[in-house]
Amino acid sequence: MGKILVFAEHTNGKLKRSSIELLQAAAKSGNTVSAVVFGSHAADVAAAAGQNGANEVHLFKDASLDAYNPELFTANIASAVEKIQPSIILASASSVGKDLFPRVAARLGAGVASDCTELTISGDSVTATKPMYSGKCFAKVGFENASLKIVLMRANQLPVAAADAGKSASVVEQAVAKPDLKTLIKEIVKGTSEKLDLTEANIIVGGGRGLKEAANFKILNDLADVLGATVGASRAVVDAGWVGHGMQVGQTGKTVAPSLYIAVGISGAIQHLAGMSGSKVIVAINNDPNAPIFQKATYGIVGDALEIVPKLTEEFKKALHH
Ligand SMILES: Cc1cc2nc3c(=O)[nH]c(=O)nc-3n(C[C@H](O)[C@H](O)[C@H](O)COP(=O)(O)OP(=O)(O)OC[C@H]3O[C@@H](n4cnc5c(N)ncnc54)[C@H](O)[C@@H]3O)c2cc1C
Repeated sequence: MGKILVFAEHTNGKLKRSSIELLQAAAKSGNTVSAVVFGSHAADVAAAAGQNGANEVHLFKDASLDAYNPELFTANIASAVEKIQPSIILASASSVGKDLFPRVAARLGAGVASDCTELTISGDSVTATKPMYSGKCFAKVGFENASLKIVLMRANQLPVAAADAGKSASVVEQAVAKPDLKTLIKEIVKGTSEKLDLTEANIIVGGGRGLKEAANFKILNDLADVLGATVGASRAVVDAGWVGHGMQVGQTGKTVAPSLYIAVGISGAIQHLAGMSGSKVIVAINNDPNAPIFQKATYGIVGDALEIVPKLTEEFKKALHH
């Protein structure tokens, strides 16, 4: 058996669900699981990484690794690979993962499969499935002539079991590589949202042009608050300037796979479906019974969203807060 390096992403020391998925999948394969954690809060992640399947946790504890810098992260992943000698790297197909690991692959002569939705590990060989042409077909990807194989998985694709509080990992503090940088992050301006990022959200309420005007997004925010959901949007309303591009779901927006996606006043154009058809349960609210979204929906409500959504919010409030 070989070693699997899992790049464990976290938010201020809280392990992301997408990384928990990877740690548990790696642990199931019977390989040794080495979690690599970056940033000043890295040590806070060690216990959770162990409880979710890591055998060892390698901490690259330094404030310079708090914000993503491609050169710095590439150098430190390369140094982790040198120390750990994994045959497989698993990481999230997050915006960081998708930028970082092709660089790592180029530097180390590794193979990389990005944006995958299924994963099979057998010994030190790995195959993955990735959607192509906006999900119209699926490619099975294997590796040849690559001693290091990198798979980037979309979030919410792998099952997550409860953490095992009885398990722990050995913790190794690693020296942080500080190469001369050609680019520097000067400042990070945070968005105002405290909600989970769309790609990590378990429940999403998506709004489209059927909401009529920007102000009506308030009824989606109210519903999302009650459900603990994140609000997304179609491109039509992003282009109209009702909401920011960070909220766009679809081919030219974010790809999401929550347990529940509630599409409100969204027609279900192929480019929107490309971003959300992997959702486990889809509820569509639309006043046109022939809207294409109903062909993908698990449940459909035909009617005026502006009337239905506030009623749903009231009912969920009663059902969930008693
Ligand atoms: C290259 C390319 C990339 C694209 N990428 C994306 C992408 O990433 N994401 C994306 O979303 N789109 C994308 N699009 C745009 C896409 O083709 C659609 O135009 C867009 O998704 C439509 O948004 P919508 O469903 O909000 O609006 P519409 O298609 O106008 O649909 C509005 C829906 O609301 C319903 N409705 C109206 N009034 C009410 C009411 N009172 N109550 C309930 N329902 C009501 C209508 O019946 C209709 O079905 C892309 C297009 C191209 C060409």
